[in-house]
Amino acid sequence: MSSGKGECAADTEQLQQRVYLGLRAGNLDPEDLVALACNLLDWFPCSDAVLEVVELNPAEMSPEEMAARARRILDDVGFDPGFDLAPERSETLRAALRIVARDLPLRGIEGEPEIEILRDWFPVGAGIRLADGERLNWGGPILPTMCDDPTVALASLARLIQESLLERTWQVWPVCLWHDLGVHASERNGAAVWWCAGDDGHILAPVGELARALGHGRATQGRR
Ligand SMILES: [Zn+2]
Repeated sequence: MSSGKGECAADTEQLQQRVYLGLRAGNLDPEDLVALACNLLDWFPCSDAVLEVVELNPAEMSPEEMAARARRILDDVGFDPGFDLAPERSETLRAALRIVARDLPLRGIEGEPEIEILRDWFPVGAGIRLADGERLNWGGPILPTMCDDPTVALASLARLIQESLLERTWQVWPVCLWHDLGVHASERNGAAVWWCAGDDGHILAPVGELARALGHGRATQGRR
């Protein structure tokens, strides 16, 4: 049995969570960081941050240096705090759902949809439950990492909804009235939009503002 590993017995996943939470709260415990680096040494010998934490004493680093190395270690091992340890992600997702929900009455979907965290999935993701109880998660759930950016979260939700509805009904939605083409939820110039590929491509409407675009379309449709 090799010596020096005895003090590194704590569970690596737990240590990652403690280091992450310590970083968030600004009270990272150097001993947690050393224990984590020590645990990871055999698995990530090419991570400079792991080596530095093992070789140098984090307690003697500045808080900024220690935090920077802790972040690099979490990055190197691909740690993801999921929804539970980063609750702002759920908030971002709920805010995005409120926006895309404004378009749903145009599809005949009434009532307030809800975010549903899918704990049976790995990794844990999020789906949508409509007011009538129907679940939308076709093509895989929304992953926690998609919720770090409001635009990505909104476009991902809109895509999940339209693909789930398409799978169920084989009916394309939404449709560009000018080109008679199905449009797709997409990110353009930092905004989540319904994008039509007709002609050179154009934004039919920002996600959440479909009613205004299609209302205008109906008004002009007769003149085509
Ligand atoms: Zn179009």
